[in-house]
Amino acid sequence: MSDTKHSTEFDVIARYFRPLAKSEPGALNLADDAAVLDIPKDMQIVVTTDALVAGVHFLETLSPRGTAQKVAGVNLSDLAAMGAQPKWAFLAAQFSPHTSEEWIADFAHGLGDALRDAGAVLTGGDTVATPGPLAFTLTLIGFVAKGCALTRSGAKQGDDLYVTGTIGDGALGLQCLTGTLPMKAYLADRYARPRPRNAFALKLAQAGLANACVDISDGLAADVRHICEASNVNATIEAARVPLSDAAKDLIEHDASLMTNVLSGGDDYELAFTASPDDSAAIKALAQETSLAVTCIGHIEKGNGKSIVRVLDHDACVMDLGVGGYVHR
Ligand code: ADP
Ligand code: MG
Repeated sequence: MSDTKHSTEFDVIARYFRPLAKSEPGALNLADDAAVLDIPKDMQIVVTTDALVAGVHFLETLSPRGTAQKVAGVNLSDLAAMGAQPKWAFLAAQFSPHTSEEWIADFAHGLGDALRDAGAVLTGGDTVATPGPLAFTLTLIGFVAKGCALTRSGAKQGDDLYVTGTIGDGALGLQCLTGTLPMKAYLADRYARPRPRNAFALKLAQAGLANACVDISDGLAADVRHICEASNVNATIEAARVPLSDAAKDLIEHDASLMTNVLSGGDDYELAFTASPDDSAAIKALAQETSLAVTCIGHIEKGNGKSIVRVLDHDACVMDLGVGGYVHR
């Protein structure tokens, strides 16, 4: 890790990360200076990086396996948002000199499983020791057929606005874990281990059904606003149509004000996308094919340069979500 412990760094790479690279010859067994990778003809590569720091982006108490799933999940979700098939991963790992080998082994196994599930493989990275908190930066490269990437910028007036899965579980789950809400294991797990929607996103991109797409990491309202900004449109969300898990419903029944957290809290790693109302049957069919709930929660309106996201409550009154969304640090 540090220069004086160079053998340790090589040992860690060889023991725990090399096995993850086996299925990609271009990784050169993680034994060369860099990977050499072939890009299939007629494909574009889609590249994303996310850095996660203990105590900032994940809880220090999270298990090594959970940490790996989170690191992989947030990056896989970015590729889902673009409609790309995940393929190659590069991990810059900052361990502490006190991180045990057991921790690293469990982390590596968790990372291997999460990447494999998504069809991706570890092809390189860097391993360092730091006196600071644990931190992991994953770079993911995926493929998309030329011109088929989903972007934030194609939403059109009159489009339906959809989300996958259920919304707000991540934000409520974090509150469960930090003790500001009663513990609900389902929600805590949803926060800790994102399940990005890559399979559905791939089909959505291949079918050419979505006009704009974003993954919900900062919060539903904030991320729909990202679509509005990029597409120069406004959006209306009907709160009553936003799909909730049973666990979230349970909490909201006791405290209706939690709906604000659902609409503005982050860490769901679901997708929000827009599509023409003419394609609603095709979208339903895709959702069924991938066994994923997909719900229309509102629609896209003509833009006025202000990228307004109106959220209407049960009485069709505009809800005030405060600042809304995760503020990046
Ligand atoms: P350099 O000295 O050029 O930084 P390294 O010794 O860090 O090279 O890396 C040697 C090989 O191991 C490279 O192929 C690199 O991609 C790979 N590698 C290092 N750390 C990791 C990691 N955490 N995950 C995957 N591959 C890694
Ligand atoms: Mg290095």
